[in-house]
Amino acid sequence: MTLTWTPVTARVHVASLEPHRVNVGLVIGADAAALIDCGNTPDQGAEILRSAGELAGVPVTHVILTHGHHDHVGGLAGLTGVVSIGHENLAGVATSETFSMARALDLGGQRLELLNFGDAHTDADTVVFVPGENVVFAGDLLEEGADPQVDATTSLANWPTVLDGVLGASTAETRFVPGHGAVVDRDFAFVQRAEVAMLYSSSEMLIQQGVRVEEAATAVEWPFTPDTLAVALPKAYAELADKGVVPKRQLPISGI
Ligand SMILES: [Zn+2]
Repeated sequence: MTLTWTPVTARVHVASLEPHRVNVGLVIGADAAALIDCGNTPDQGAEILRSAGELAGVPVTHVILTHGHHDHVGGLAGLTGVVSIGHENLAGVATSETFSMARALDLGGQRLELLNFGDAHTDADTVVFVPGENVVFAGDLLEEGADPQVDATTSLANWPTVLDGVLGASTAETRFVPGHGAVVDRDFAFVQRAEVAMLYSSSEMLIQQGVRVEEAATAVEWPFTPDTLAVALPKAYAELADKGVVPKRQLPISGI
């Protein structure tokens, strides 16, 4: 397996792996280096650790897990001797250390800020800010080249609010490393935030118009593929139903 690290800045690098162009990040400080996510398999994890250590020139001491999906954490068993940090809801995924809302990590003149803004892509998302490099690792809160993905723990209602928190801490020059695909800029993040928001707000509108979930995919021009919609629309409808937003009862037409 060959791994290619691409510089985002002089001290921040990204490697793109299969499946699905999943990203692994490397942030280098004066004393230590940290990985962000660790690939899909223990073999990938071991190769990531070896090549990252070579590139960093300092020990790779930590890995930060952006969330618990397998393509982001499956390499963990290959990272011998590395401390893993994730959100407290990842405690069952063998993270050595967890945090609830915020935590900082000092790599020697390079500070990482780990933040959880609430449920979004999953119920255990960590966004990693690297203020000294003006880089943000967004995990699967952002995806380049593919649609954002939804699972049972996703909050479509809260996801845009979470991205507002990320965007609010960024500048026009901030580089965003998505969970998959190429590094993007703030404009890209704004657009994807709007698309996720549209999924929820348009679903609410359709429910109020009496459109059933089975008909929702073709009722509106969505910025997502049919495969994504097949999972995301039932999730949006279910979240809205939990809030009491359900189709109005069809009233019998009188006088016929
Ligand atoms: Zn994911």
